[in-house]
Amino acid sequence: EVRTRIQENPPHILLTNYVMLELMLVRPEEHTFVDAATSGIQFLVMDELHTYRGRQGADVALLIRRLRQRCGNPNLLCIGTSATMIADRSATALERREIVAKFASTIFGTSLEPGNIIEESLKQVALVPPPSSRDELVNAIRSPIPDNWDGMVFHPLTAWIEHEFGIEDEGKGKFRRKVPITLNSGAEKLAEACGLSFEECHDRLLEFFKKGSTIKSVQDNPLFGFKLHQFFSQGKTIYSTLESPDVRDLTLDGQYYAPGSEEQKLLYPLKFCRVCGQEYYVVQKDDTDHHFLPSEDTYANLAESNRGYLMLSPPELGSTWPRDRIPEEWYEKNGKRFRPSRREHVPTAFYVAPDGSFQQAEMGPHKDNAILVWFQPRPFMLCQNCNEFYPARDKNDYRKLTGLATEGRSTSTTILTLSMYEKSPFAHIPEGAQKILSFTDNRQDASLQAGHFNDFIQVSFLRGAIYKALLGQPHIESSDIALSVLNATGLQVGEVAQNAQIDPHSVIARDIWETFQKLIEYRIYIDLQRGWRVVQPNLEQCGLVSFDYKGLEELCSNASRWSDLDAAFREFPASQKYIFIKNILDFFRKKLAIKVLCFDSSHQNSLHGKVYQYISEYWQMDFLESKLTQGSRFVLPGESSNLPEAFSLNETSLIGQYIKRHLPHLRGQDYRSFVVSVIGILATAGILSSSTQQGTNVVQVNAAAITWNLSEGEPGRDPIYSRATTAPPLYQRQRTWRANQYFIDFYRNVALNLKKVRSREHTAQITYERREKREKEFHDGKL
Ligand SMILES: [Zn+2]
Repeated sequence: EVRTRIQENPPHILLTNYVMLELMLVRPEEHTFVDAATSGIQFLVMDELHTYRGRQGADVALLIRRLRQRCGNPNLLCIGTSATMIADRSATALERREIVAKFASTIFGTSLEPGNIIEESLKQVALVPPPSSRDELVNAIRSPIPDNWDGMVFHPLTAWIEHEFGIEDEGKGKFRRKVPITLNSGAEKLAEACGLSFEECHDRLLEFFKKGSTIKSVQDNPLFGFKLHQFFSQGKTIYSTLESPDVRDLTLDGQYYAPGSEEQKLLYPLKFCRVCGQEYYVVQKDDTDHHFLPSEDTYANLAESNRGYLMLSPPELGSTWPRDRIPEEWYEKNGKRFRPSRREHVPTAFYVAPDGSFQQAEMGPHKDNAILVWFQPRPFMLCQNCNEFYPARDKNDYRKLTGLATEGRSTSTTILTLSMYEKSPFAHIPEGAQKILSFTDNRQDASLQAGHFNDFIQVSFLRGAIYKALLGQPHIESSDIALSVLNATGLQVGEVAQNAQIDPHSVIARDIWETFQKLIEYRIYIDLQRGWRVVQPNLEQCGLVSFDYKGLEELCSNASRWSDLDAAFREFPASQKYIFIKNILDFFRKKLAIKVLCFDSSHQNSLHGKVYQYISEYWQMDFLESKLTQGSRFVLPGESSNLPEAFSLNETSLIGQYIKRHLPHLRGQDYRSFVVSVIGILATAGILSSSTQQGTNVVQVNAAAITWNLSEGEPGRDPIYSRATTAPPLYQRQRTWRANQYFIDFYRNVALNLKKVRSREHTAQITYERREKREKEFHDGKL
């Protein structure tokens, strides 16, 4: 309706973008905006003119020509604005105008003269010259900082700062902006000029800047209108030359050859072991030319089998990969020969020179600067430092190796934003001003980022609450977990209710609180899921929480309960039986194969209605919109099933392989009856819950048996997914399996303080009323 009104009665000024302008030229209903008879267009103003370059620039230039023709005004006045057009600092003022005029003429399709270009004009504020001698400069630095405009503009340090940070003389009384420098490099310059210490100069400059930003001229302009810039660049690939770590070149610029050396040194992309951080050169092995070439996924011109990874060798290693660093299962059963599928994955030694040329290690170095490296082909199957190894069928190297920064951009943005926010009280920023406004050029991005931020906050808040609950009570049973966590949140009913004014003593308030507790319970259970991603490890992956199963320890120490089982298993000491079974139960739990009310679909349906009715929009979050999980189940060996979220317990499954690593003689019927018996015993003890679903026999962990335990921040390897030989790390790095310290501290100390932090997008996708409300909330510091 509004649109029609605007279309029928075009405004004097229309704000749009070039995509919409293009549409206006073709849409019949918008002809009034562009037609000669109705539009009367006199001016066309284009902002950020410098962005219209290349192919897009050509498109826009043609669009403007079509518009001029269509609107019937040959004298259409085109105006372009831009803050950044000329990068060449050596260009004179006239040259700059000529370049801009030429560019604008091309875009607008009319001829613009250099005289049509208006540049900014800058004015000097300091009314004294900068100090000319060292003594004068020292005096200026050590003299008190004035607290009024006149005092400042006559201060010699103001003049020095203006000349070093702000403007430079172009002659004829004209000034232009200086290339920005950092506070540190300014302080270094000052220290060098005056002979005082860097620290003193740095602190003095900082004080001066702060003071200068608060002192205003009569026109209300601050003396130093400085801007703070801090760049967080997006992660890139890091490249290195094939040389020993103390001399090699590392760079973020993807080039083929390392610059600045006589001989041609190749640059190779590096990848890092996700477990220990060991670096690997990504290469293609060229067997005809005997060269290792840099390899990226995009230029795969050699056969897949020739691609692989190089690790620099520590000096003490010979030319054959040590036996204790090869997984036992890579050998044939006699333990002498390698299984055929593994043989080529055993690392092989080469001498390699920085130009990529190589020679077999036994033949010795072929060049003076050749170094010893180890090669393994794709897929990556063994970390040569920490000994983590992977099954042959796991072809996805992304899960095993990471680039310098391949992890989510949303998470980085969220964490950076959150850290700034969280530190703002330390910078004495008043409470109402503790807020962050960020811009993005894409409204989907804005909405995704806002959603990601809130999700991150909620998940972290809940984890902080679980941790706090465990601090008060180091072992919590499943029947108490939701209530304990809820109490630890410190939330009040009004903070989670749709009606924030609800009387906490009312009957409805009790309903609301109960609903919220059930909602929290569901969240606690889905957070048990294992995520391999390092972007936001959960409490268990940070080693802050561990789990136990009620009665399992007693069950394992009671030998008579196991008397019918496989003889080798009976020989396991009680503690070994316990760990063996606990690992399997942990695996079930992390797959959410849990029998618990909050995964029951009819329970979820009734909760759904109450959440809709009672709970605030923020705490509802994705509960109403996303598909809720009903957990998963494991199917008994030998049975097949079409059940959703059903995992196998067959010999070849992950659990099957785990069992056979400990009891290698079990196969076929023996294996199946062993698994069925163990499940039977655990079910009798109430730890597992067996049932028949759609004719299939399945098993889940009984939630009633799970206990949450406080743990101290040292997570172990995942014994089912993660496998390694027992050899110590090759390089003396104590980095294996450490959890991310940021998240450990975050869950311990910060997460629970975030209950009031919210993020909202402000885009054209939101209704006008909501946008206004958001603006007000942001203004008041509530958002
Ligand atoms: Zn490793």
